[in-house]
Amino acid sequence: MQEFLEKLQAALGPDVVQTEAADIEPWLSDWRGVYKGQAQAVVRPVSTEQVAQCMRLCSQYKVPVVTRGGNTGLCGAATPDARPDNIILSLDRMNQIRSIDTIANTLVADAGCILGNLRRAAQEQDRLLPLSLAAEDSSQIGGNVATNAGGVNVVRYGMARELVLGIEAVLPDGEIFNGLQTLRKDNTGYDLKQLLIGSEGTLGVITGVALRLHAPTHVRSVVLAAVESEQQALELFRLVFGACGPRLQAFEFFTDACLDLVLTHVEGVQLPFGDRHPAYVLIELADTANEEALTQLLEEVIGQALEQELCVDAAVSASLAQLQALWRLREEISEAQRADGPHLKHDISLPIEQIPAFVKTAEVQLRKVSPDCRLFIFGHFGDGNLHYNVSRPAGADKSWAAEWEIRIADAVFEEVMAYGGSISAEHGIGQLKRHAFLHHKDPLQLKLMRQIKQVFDPDGIMNPGKVL
Ligand SMILES: Cc1cc2nc3c(=O)[nH]c(=O)nc-3n(C[C@H](O)[C@H](O)[C@H](O)COP(=O)(O)OP(=O)(O)OC[C@H]3O[C@@H](n4cnc5c(N)ncnc54)[C@H](O)[C@@H]3O)c2cc1C
Repeated sequence: MQEFLEKLQAALGPDVVQTEAADIEPWLSDWRGVYKGQAQAVVRPVSTEQVAQCMRLCSQYKVPVVTRGGNTGLCGAATPDARPDNIILSLDRMNQIRSIDTIANTLVADAGCILGNLRRAAQEQDRLLPLSLAAEDSSQIGGNVATNAGGVNVVRYGMARELVLGIEAVLPDGEIFNGLQTLRKDNTGYDLKQLLIGSEGTLGVITGVALRLHAPTHVRSVVLAAVESEQQALELFRLVFGACGPRLQAFEFFTDACLDLVLTHVEGVQLPFGDRHPAYVLIELADTANEEALTQLLEEVIGQALEQELCVDAAVSASLAQLQALWRLREEISEAQRADGPHLKHDISLPIEQIPAFVKTAEVQLRKVSPDCRLFIFGHFGDGNLHYNVSRPAGADKSWAAEWEIRIADAVFEEVMAYGGSISAEHGIGQLKRHAFLHHKDPLQLKLMRQIKQVFDPDGIMNPGKVL
């Protein structure tokens, strides 16, 4: 271990390779504070060549590498395991935008760029980078691509994968994968970058990303609609999608229990209606121009929805401040849950029309396991993606989550699979879902994944204990 560190420090310098315990400590746990591991060093390179130098030595000495983005992942994928010889490879110092092209509509950036900064840089050039999530001001584009992040605009623009045109990555042996192209069309054989997207740091280190940009959506209009059931939300989605087509930018859902959490733990938020309802849908429409027409369209659709009893109340934003206030009710849910204490996250997806039936039967199964647990359901309803989160019963000790984690996940995931869904919609597998993933994934697909892992990383040094 000592020889490896000496060579690494000689190659990259002590500023890049940090080995003091006090310097390493802040890097050892995850955003939620659920996982903690060990590492012998934190390496913070400033260039792709430095990443390659680091990987060549790691490969030679068989040192495990945990690549770190913004550490906002929710599955413990960026947290090292208990091996003392892990290194944490952080991309935070590789944070330059390499180019923005407003004719080809592309943005090329270092993997360590913060997503929110890239969105603002695109906006300054009158373009839209539509990838958007509540953690966008901490997460890095490399992490977003490595997790194939989703977020709130998937209903219109797709997941991160659909925005990636090219990738530069360093493979475990230190070779540089030069796939940083911006072509829209390239059918020359297998599209290898797709393997790195969503690979959670298990195949290589993404060092640069080329992304598609879209036309700016200068005008936005948001409505918060109250619904009585998931079935009503589903019918509302059918109506809004049909009427608004590509202008539909987000279709988000949360139950009254989630709202309660936000009102309890977050300052300065309030519900725009007098009454409380079982659940709420936040709908955003966006367009390049003509705010009046957009708001009129939204009001007409919501008028129809009220007439057809597809929602029971609604508040349309009349200003940017109101629009942002409505969004906070949805976006603060994760923070409010964190403030409420340890909880069990199930980021699942379902065929959208199965959501109402799933919600009913999953709760029956869940209550058989833990009759008094508290259920918080929210998420990207328009994508069939629910965050089906479970918290300890009122009065239970905070150790409840760790004690019940596996039994509750088993009950939830059995139901998800019975409805033809997925146990991970957008957060990935990491260490949180590894057990369930290996249990539920089709054996042939697992076999092929293991073969791919072997091709990229024959010594198994990339993020061990995650995914496979
Ligand atoms: C409040 C909150 C809201 C969130 N909302 C959403 C949401 O709506 N949609 C969604 O999809 N996610 C969401 N997330 C989860 C998280 O933000 C995403 O998974 C994000 O893409 C992770 O990016 P990161 O840079 O923080 O990656 P990290 O957490 O640092 O790492 C995640 C994984 O990617 C790997 N990795 C990181 N960088 C690289 C790289 N350069 N090369 C190779 N591998 C790398 C890591 O090894 C790890 O396996 C949310 C998280 C929080 C805290």
